[in-house]
Amino acid sequence: RAKQDGRSTFCFFEPALDAAARARRQLELDMREALSEGQFRLDFQPVLCLKNDRISGFEALLRWHHPTRGLVSPVEFIPVAEDTGLIIQIGEWVIHEACRQAKSWPAHMRVAVNVSPLQFRSPGLKGVIVQALAYSGIEPHRLEIEMTESIFLENTDDTLALLHSLRALGIRFALDDFGTGYSSLSYLRSFPFDKIKIDRSFVTGIASEQNAAAIVRAIVDLATALGMETTAEGVELESQMAELRAQGCGTIQGFLYSRPVSAEQAALLITADAQDARREAA
Ligand code: C2E
Ligand code: MG
Ligand code: MG
Ligand code: MG
Repeated sequence: RAKQDGRSTFCFFEPALDAAARARRQLELDMREALSEGQFRLDFQPVLCLKNDRISGFEALLRWHHPTRGLVSPVEFIPVAEDTGLIIQIGEWVIHEACRQAKSWPAHMRVAVNVSPLQFRSPGLKGVIVQALAYSGIEPHRLEIEMTESIFLENTDDTLALLHSLRALGIRFALDDFGTGYSSLSYLRSFPFDKIKIDRSFVTGIASEQNAAAIVRAIVDLATALGMETTAEGVELESQMAELRAQGCGTIQGFLYSRPVSAEQAALLITADAQDARREAA
């Protein structure tokens, strides 16, 4: 094989497209192996309630510890998992593992799981959720499914029917990355999400840009009027937290309070949170 130098990029026998296709194929094979070899892990990022400064739950975030490449970002492998359909099996593992971990947490803490559009539409999803709830024994209202506005891009009627059928299980639904996709307010009218997650891009500018602050305020007011909770994503600065508090945002997530951490570290955060609560009560 040609050496990886500048020229090989333009080599007649190795068009760039083929190389990209091969890389994706390899990633797909590696992901299949990752499933069977147990290379996936979940990290957990705490969600902080601004009313009492306590942890209300955690978002489960998928991590792939590749044997030679090291940690691979979900931003890199999830799109390929979606294209190949592997996201359905990976997502099944995520739901089971998230519920299994939540079982060891205090009963008031929720676990949020990201579900991609293809996984959402897969016929087996309902059964997977039922099974994960049964195996773990956690109350259904402790499981929150996060999805982005993109689930509404096609077949809105089917999507709504599916949402209502899943809601009958007693689980919760959050609209992730709100404001970045094909935003339409009509689905907020048609489906009672439990929570709106305000995208990090708005949170980033909240303490410095009037427009970002106005948009966050409008989203919080809209959610409140609709009886939905709000979580601000990507809170990195004290000034952002202060502004969100002033605007009545219910909960925050971000590096300011904690990065996503391992299940073991999450347990330590839970212990510290309980100590805070006892100190306050004393
Ligand atoms: P998301 O669901 O919107 O998750 C939030 C992302 O923001 C996470 O990136 C998290 O680590 C990051 N984040 C949290 N706080 C901060 C902050 O203060 N600053 C900054 N700059 N970033 C922050 P991560 O873990 O790389 O995940 C990226 C995306 O991958 C997620 O976005 C979600 O769409 C997807 N994803 C992750 N796990 C899963 C999964 O199990 N299934 C599916 N379908 N998608 C997943
Ligand atoms: Mg999410
Ligand atoms: Mg998000
Ligand atoms: Mg996101």
